[in-house]
Parts: sequence; C-alpha cells; structure tokens
Amino acid sequence: MTHSPQTDGVVAARLDAATLEAHFDDLYPDFDDHQARVAADRCYFCHDAPCMTACPTTIDIPLFIRQIQTGLPEAAARTILAQNILGGMCARVCPTETLCEGSCVRETAEGEPVQIGRLQRYATDRLLLANEHPFTRAAATGKTVAVVGAGPAGLAAAHRLAMHGHDVTLFDARPKAGGLNEYGIAAYKAANGIAQAEVDWLLRIGGITVKTGVKLGADMTLDELKADYDAVFLGMGLAGVNALGIEGEGLDGVRDAVEFIAELRQCADRSTLPIGRNVVVIGGGMTAVDAAVQSRLLGAETVTMVYRRGREAMAASDYEIDHAATEGVTVITGAMPVAIRGAGKVTEIAFAYTRSGPKGLEKTGETFTLRADQVFKAIGQTLAGAPEALALDKGKIAIDAAGRSSVAGVWAGGDCATGGEDLTVTAVQQGRDAAEDIHAALTGAAG
Ligand SMILES: Cc1cc2nc3c(=O)[nH]c(=O)nc-3n(C[C@H](O)[C@H](O)[C@H](O)COP(=O)(O)OP(=O)(O)OC[C@H]3O[C@@H](n4cnc5c(N)ncnc54)[C@H](O)[C@@H]3O)c2cc1C
Ligand code: SF4
Repeated sequence: MTHSPQTDGVVAARLDAATLEAHFDDLYPDFDDHQARVAADRCYFCHDAPCMTACPTTIDIPLFIRQIQTGLPEAAARTILAQNILGGMCARVCPTETLCEGSCVRETAEGEPVQIGRLQRYATDRLLLANEHPFTRAAATGKTVAVVGAGPAGLAAAHRLAMHGHDVTLFDARPKAGGLNEYGIAAYKAANGIAQAEVDWLLRIGGITVKTGVKLGADMTLDELKADYDAVFLGMGLAGVNALGIEGEGLDGVRDAVEFIAELRQCADRSTLPIGRNVVVIGGGMTAVDAAVQSRLLGAETVTMVYRRGREAMAASDYEIDHAATEGVTVITGAMPVAIRGAGKVTEIAFAYTRSGPKGLEKTGETFTLRADQVFKAIGQTLAGAPEALALDKGKIAIDAAGRSSVAGVWAGGDCATGGEDLTVTAVQQGRDAAEDIHAALTGAAG
C-alpha cells in the first residue's frame, strides 16, 4: 500500500489501513459492569434532578442510574428508551457537556459530573446489541401515516406511531435509513455500524414499511400523500448547503463538508479516501469540527479551522473545540474567506480579519493567506425541497408546540422545522411529540 504523508495535493492512503482503523475506532469504549457500577455510585439521585430537566427528551436519569446501580441494566434501558427510542445513538452523540452532564449537581459543585452519557450507552447497548426490542404494538387502528425522512425525527415519529397501532410508511430519498446518524455524525462517534444496527432494532416494533430512494417533490407530492394517508409527518432535515459566494469557489479541491463526511461514513476502506496535505475548513459548528478532526485522522498534515466571529459565537461546544485542538487542528477566529486561488486546483485561500462594528461584522483591512490543497465549506445547511404550501419561519417549516404545520393533516419536526436546536436529541423529541399529537388527532382525542 502507498503511504504518502508528505505528498502535496489530494491523495489517498496518507496513512496505512491499520492506523486509519485505530484512528476511527470508538471514541469512548463501552463501560464494563464494574465501571458502570462505580460511575452510577457517584449519583446523588437528586429529588428535582436538574440533569433530567436539561434533557430534551426528559429521560428519568436518576431512575435509570439507580437501576444500573442495583444491577438491572435492561430495566435502565427500558427507562431510557421509553422516552428516547434512539437512546443508543444519543448516548454517543449528545453534547452532554451542555445538556444533562452540564447541569449535574456534581458538575456545578465539583466540576466532575456523573458520566450520564456513558451510563446511558452501557444500558441501551445491553438491549441493542442483543437485538432485543422491549416494546410491543397496540392493537391495529387501521389508520395510516406517511413519514417523510428516516432521520432521527422521522424514526422517532414512526416508532411511536407504530407502537400506537398505526401503519406507517417511512420514505427517504437516500439509499439507507438513518439520516445524519448514518451520513453525518463523526465516524468515531458511530463506530461498528451502530447507526444501522439501531435502525434495524427500532424497526422490530413492526408496522413500519421503509421505502428508500423515494424523494418528496420528485417521486411524490404532498397532495398525493395527503390523499393516500390519514396523516403526514415531515422530518426531512436540512438537505441544502450554503455557498461562500467568493472567487475560486468552483476550483478543484473545494467541497462541501457535509458531502465529504457522508462519503467518509459510507466508505468501506478509508485508505482509499483522498485527503489534502494542507486542509482548511471554513465554519464554526459541529460540521466544521467533524470535518477538521476527521481530516487530521485521515492523515492531513495541517488542518486549520477558520471562523468569522469570536470563539464564544461558535456553534460547536467548548468540548468539541478542545477535542479538535487535541487532534492537532488549528482554530483561527475572527477571519472570513475573501478569495480561493489556484490554477484549476486550489493552492491557497485568502482571509480578511474581522471585527464587530456598528452595522455588524466588518473587515479590519488586514488579510492573510493559508496554503491549502483542500477546502471544506461548513457554513450551514438549509431547508431544501419543502412543499410550497407550507408556511415557513426563518427558513424552516413553521410548526406549533404540537408539531402541526400550517397545512391541516401535516406535522413536521427535527432540523427542517422551527423550535429545535439542530441536535439529534431535539429531533427525536420533536418526532416523538408530533407522533403523540397525530395519534390523538387520529383517535379523536385531540382538541
Ligand atoms: C456533520 C454533522 C455532524 C453532526 N454531529 C452531531 C452530534 O455530534 N450530535 C448531535 O446531537 N447532533 C449532531 N448533528 C446534528 C444532527 O445530526 C441533526 O440535528 C439530526 O440528524 C436531525 O435529524 P432529522 O431527522 O431532523 O434530520 P436528518 O438526520 O437530516 O434526516 C432527514 C432525512 O430526510 C431525508 N430527506 C430529505 N429530503 C427529502 C425528501 N425530499 N424526500 C424524502 N426524504 C428526504 C434525508 O435523506 C434524511 O435521511 C450533526 C450534523 C452534521 C451535519
Ligand atoms: S444531577 Fe447528577 S447527581 Fe443529581 S440525579 Fe442527575 S446525575 Fe445524579
């Protein structure tokens, strides 16, 4: 195998296959029984548990930790999954440092939270890896629901609807179900095929027919779905990407970070994946961090993440940014790209320093350039292909507290809709809650 750490340009096999495998292994391996008991013993089982309030899906955290402490991990898993059917992936991807663990009294008092995320993974993996599904369907209602988008929001909605006895058809434009759990989340957070394993496990509830490769807007319309089904849930995420709008954006080597990450997640042999020697990532969110870290893990020699505002405005958490720094990513804040240069292929990118002025962000007049043979754009995703009949709010499908859109009989949730935080866990919560409202509407219990 070629091993080309020092070569300029975008080339495959900068590192050998064994090193790559080690680099993309599980970020935090599962607890064993002893480690789980020790971690559970640190919980105070607070009466008004702030960790539970901070969880968007309101998992009864002290209860499941008590169940682990008393040697009942399967019962703990049921407690978690009753609130969050994607509890296995959420245990791996949730920014716990800003949610449950960030609110844990042991964090606020001692700076060392109970390791809630890892305990959740320990419990849910007991059922997931044994492929044991803990829930059963209610008697069939004869009602049918179309769910568009098989990401966390659509999967959570489909599962809850199926549990209530409705027949669900789950459509997705991509070849595989899972949404960004399958195509977006960093590979080291979803090692060993866990995203597909979770989808397969979730579908064991029954009553859900999955149709992949079917796109709303191209293969079917909202009107057709409304005519054919009793209700429609849209969980179509943010399929569009923003453009930089600067000179050189079309050069070879400049690409969208989400597309690069999807390719990385679907690649069976990462040593075949081309990566630059000097990589520049533009953006300050989770996508930027994931593109930057994974570029380093693939063997890029220098990786620089550049964000136009200050660090405090970055959407990625301190934990994520520190992780990037630990992996050797250089983070530059307060600079925006002004031109990408090269003859056919990118060779450098020019930036202007920024400051905040009376009319918003402005250039200071100082500039700098970075050598780059690959540039990843991670400047945000946008809603694409939403049916025109739906009212939008700030570029997302407008929904009320129950997940109802402006069109009767159509609900929405997850990244494509208002109200969430563009996190896996908020997508799950919105999908689950919309399903409850659809169930109430279909069975005549809704107001
Ligand atoms: C690179 C990256 C890393 C991330 N890392 C994290 C993380 O570590 N932790 C975290 O909590 N969150 C993370 N997120 C955010 C998280 O992945 C999303 O918030 C979450 O997946 C949203 O779920 P969803 O179901 O709303 O949308 P998605 O997961 O985007 O799923 C939408 C689905 O709809 C399908 N679809 C779209 N249009 C159509 C159509 N017209 N017809 C049919 N199907 C359609 C898509 O193919 C897709 O499968 C990350 C996001 C990205 C991009
Ligand atoms: S806040 Fe911390 S100590 Fe209190 S119940 Fe939650 S995990 Fe346990």
